[in-house]
Amino acid sequence: MAQAKKAVAKTSRKQTTRSAVRSAVKIYQNYIGGKWVPSESGEMFEDLNPADNRDIIGRFPLSTSDDVNRAVNAAQEAFDRWRHTPAPRRAELLFRLGEILIANKDRFAADMTREMGKVLKETGGDVQEAIDCTYYTAGEGRRLHGFTTPAEMPDKFAMCVRQPVGLCGLITPWNFPMAIPSWKLIPALVCGNTVVLKPAEDTPLSTYNLVMACEEAGIPPGVVNLVTGYGETVGAAMTNHPALRLIAFTGSTETGRIVASACAERNAICSLEMGGKNAIIVMDDADIDLAIEGAVWGAFGTSGQRCTASSRLIVHKRVYKQFVSKLVEHVKTLRVGNGADPKTDVGPVINADAVEKIMGYIQIGRNEDGARLACGGKRLSRGDYAHGYFIEPTVFADATADMRIAQEEIFGPVTTVLPTNSLEDAISIANGVRYGLSAAIYTQNVNRAFRAMNELYTGIFYVNASTIGAEVHLPFGGTKATGNGHREAGTQVLDIFSEWKSIYVDFSGKLQRAQIDMIETL
Ligand code: ADP
Repeated sequence: MAQAKKAVAKTSRKQTTRSAVRSAVKIYQNYIGGKWVPSESGEMFEDLNPADNRDIIGRFPLSTSDDVNRAVNAAQEAFDRWRHTPAPRRAELLFRLGEILIANKDRFAADMTREMGKVLKETGGDVQEAIDCTYYTAGEGRRLHGFTTPAEMPDKFAMCVRQPVGLCGLITPWNFPMAIPSWKLIPALVCGNTVVLKPAEDTPLSTYNLVMACEEAGIPPGVVNLVTGYGETVGAAMTNHPALRLIAFTGSTETGRIVASACAERNAICSLEMGGKNAIIVMDDADIDLAIEGAVWGAFGTSGQRCTASSRLIVHKRVYKQFVSKLVEHVKTLRVGNGADPKTDVGPVINADAVEKIMGYIQIGRNEDGARLACGGKRLSRGDYAHGYFIEPTVFADATADMRIAQEEIFGPVTTVLPTNSLEDAISIANGVRYGLSAAIYTQNVNRAFRAMNELYTGIFYVNASTIGAEVHLPFGGTKATGNGHREAGTQVLDIFSEWKSIYVDFSGKLQRAQIDMIETL
């Protein structure tokens, strides 16, 4: 949702005294037409460390619709040359980009932990995902397969090729601030599009690092343009810009709806990746310790701020008591802290708004829903936690499917355990939410595993693994309120960033009318 972000402290021209005092803070710029430039507004916003909000990571341009116009013009100017550059040549630059990301992985991960909060292992994974995506998708430079097919007339050839969509607007969230931009950027580029990229206001640095790496890789000016700022201004200017043929968005379902409506108004292509309320089903024959490991990783990795987070645990009654007590025991051992500390298991949440929203849901779970708070539930605000956004890993138990905490996306370190009697009941609970991103089952029984695999209406499904952990060469996305039918990653992402052109070549030398002229058979 378009909320007031943590980076609300604007630095305007009027605040020069304050700026002078903080002169050590690095100033960043937009990247437009191959040049690093300030916003025409002259204003900046601050990128803060969610583990310690006294730590100002940098100041980024608080851009306006004029900056978006400039970026779109630059993308327009670069488009013809880029689309005429053979795809294998475009891909060579992307392979070089992959090498630069590898060389800088540790630095980029450290920057990401500082601005986003998740632990270093996970930010390393985020950068690695960008690397994997870059290498895998760059390989498409020598494929981008179309197809040939027989024509219905003699001496006629029929084939289908991919063509670039044109200028693409990419709007990305803060929870995977390098991986998600790369999922959109790399396929857009390999297909021959030029882009305007807007990172989330909470995490501009990681996307800036990605764009810097693009520049270093030699991607020509204007092909990739970066404009930082708020969703309501920069994001809205992009979604409404008539020259952006496609908007690829990842974020909340509420904002996605706004983006989709704006795109529908002007007939733009729109791909959406949005929320989730993902369930792990634990059957009575499951390896319980394995299921608990998966549940803890899925629920509390990235402090639960993943669209694929395991926010519902649907557990068979025969193993329910054992599961909940072992789960709680395990969750209580998780160390909450600064993600830069290698001993930390669970980092902070992203900002003050997130704390308010998550604590609000914890209140709802306790008071309105009446679920049992099995552990956690408190904000941590003393000592080392005093200047950050820390919440205890929280487990609600004995919940029912209709409760708000079992229906709504909390996007924080909170999971809800629901008892079930049977696989059929578990499947019905798992499907009984508005989202359809990911689901999992823990069972040793192949029939149950396949039944669940068939019946769960989600875009991703795991057997004996958590709801998180997608790999870049398989399509990623979800059903219902999670998406609008597109899939990122895999080769399927090419269907977002290219359009099919069907080509007929008639070499008969005469008029042949499809569906009208009857061809004689032998
Ligand atoms: P969250 O609530 O998790 O921050 P959002 O969906 O609000 O997620 O944000 C995802 C991305 O969408 C961010 O880059 C944000 O700036 C952008 N955004 C927010 N509001 C709008 C809007 N009205 N139009 C376009 N983009 C927006």
